[in-house]
Amino acid sequence: MSYTIINPATGESMETIEHATVDETDAAIERARVAQKEWAGFTPAERAQALRTFARTVEADVETLAALEVRNSGHPIGQARWEANHVTNVLDYYSAAPERLLGKQIPVAGGIDITFNEPLGVVGIITPWNFPMTIASWGFAPALAAGNAVVLKPAEWTPLTSLRLAELGEKAGLPAGLFQVIAGKGSVVGNRFITNETVRKVVFTGSTEVGKDIMRGAADQIKRVTLELGGKSANIVFADADVDKAAATAPYSVFENAGQDCCARSRILVQKSVLDQFMEGLETAVKGVVVGDPTKDATEVGPLVHANHKATVESYLDKANVVFRGSAPDGPGNWFAPTVALSRGLDDPCMTDEIFGPIVTVHAFEDEADAVEIANATEFGLSGSIWTRAIGRALRVSRAVESGNLSVNSHSSVRYNTPFGGFKQSGLGRELGPDAPLHFTEEKNVFIPTD
Ligand code: NAP
Ligand code: MG
Repeated sequence: MSYTIINPATGESMETIEHATVDETDAAIERARVAQKEWAGFTPAERAQALRTFARTVEADVETLAALEVRNSGHPIGQARWEANHVTNVLDYYSAAPERLLGKQIPVAGGIDITFNEPLGVVGIITPWNFPMTIASWGFAPALAAGNAVVLKPAEWTPLTSLRLAELGEKAGLPAGLFQVIAGKGSVVGNRFITNETVRKVVFTGSTEVGKDIMRGAADQIKRVTLELGGKSANIVFADADVDKAAATAPYSVFENAGQDCCARSRILVQKSVLDQFMEGLETAVKGVVVGDPTKDATEVGPLVHANHKATVESYLDKANVVFRGSAPDGPGNWFAPTVALSRGLDDPCMTDEIFGPIVTVHAFEDEADAVEIANATEFGLSGSIWTRAIGRALRVSRAVESGNLSVNSHSSVRYNTPFGGFKQSGLGRELGPDAPLHFTEEKNVFIPTD
């Protein structure tokens, strides 16, 4: 089995990637098990130094990694460079962790009680196609820092940057087999991570549907899981906000990466009294989004990742109450113009489904209670934005929205130094931030009597 990569911006066929079998997956897991023992024998300072060397090796390769993501995923070059640099930042951040897994000394009667954060062993990481290298690094950097080995399966459509990162790890001198990338099918390689007992934890990012299967499968061995799943996040704009700024920035909170972002604010909730003002500003902003050739510096949005995914996104146009669209190139490539629809009600598929493409739906609300209720009327809870000049309201609504990552008067959601993850069916567990390495350890408690 193999897969031939297609450049999403041109439709050209590129390299063919061979898929691993179950036996090959098992062999990789076994190599990882052996490598982890070697890694555990490094002193904390040696592990830290090895991760810093890995970071510098990635840093020296940013242009190559970025160019691969442009060809493979259609990401605009500026964004792809940001992603490659982000991997460097994540490695640098977690290179401090091996020397800071401090454990605790707990006051108890009759002796000393101490805790250790022991590595799990081998960790399996399954990544999606939307942000291949950044999402990979959120798993492998803290997992390695905590003393584990990693086997990683990238999405079938977008394996190139992950395969390159494994080469860079080897070049940086990580023990052979410590960080392996195995190209293959989710149903073969990914599923083997669930069933092979040597893999002690699976980190999965992707659809809620597959995430549920992973969680069910993991139950058999009480295997640890972290799940980062879908979203249908709300961008809430109150009448007391800087409405013009909210409108001007809204496209970039949902159309970036062609809407293929689990944090996309794909529902815009606008207070009724400012709806007209907001829509006017939004139209200007959407028409200004530069969709086109991802190799060009000025491009803001590239094509959708794959023709099959474009067909799925397109199927929503028949259901959507479209009010205006931006522009996109014609011709070969999976182009899709940014699209704005008005909500037909809370049951409108454009209000309920994670379309994962450049379609946003605007829904008007009456008051704060109404806004919170609508924002929470979804099984998801990943991110969201709140626009208001009233600090009390910003805090009240931030506390009331059932979501893991909120942003006031802005749209940022992912920083390597802050925790990231979802409420409800958007996921389980947290990635990034200071505690991520702990999620790749078992806490061990040891009591020593002093008598
Ligand atoms: P997906 O099917 O959940 O795939 C994500 C990853 O899981 C891929 O590496 C996939 O491998 C693998 N996988 C699939 N079935 C598996 C199984 N039974 N056991 C183990 N691993 C398995 O997601 P998708 O099909 O790429 O995208 C579908 C939808 O998911 C999107 O439209 C979007 O709504 C959502 N999504 C969310 C995120 C996010 O960041 N939260 C990211 C991507 C997609 P293959 O590539 O071989 O199938
Ligand atoms: Mg799938």
